[in-house]
Amino acid sequence: MMSPVEFFQTLPKKVCPECGQIMEEQAESYLMECDRCLSKKR
Ligand SMILES: [Zn+2]
Repeated sequence: MMSPVEFFQTLPKKVCPECGQIMEEQAESYLMECDRCLSKKR
């Protein structure tokens, strides 16, 4: 069995399609882009 830490480390990280930045804090978010790109569009 994997430890909880190992489990989370193997989860695919969301990457912003605009700039390629990894978004580790928005795993549950429906947003596809990072805060920076969203702020640029609005
Ligand atoms: Zn971005």
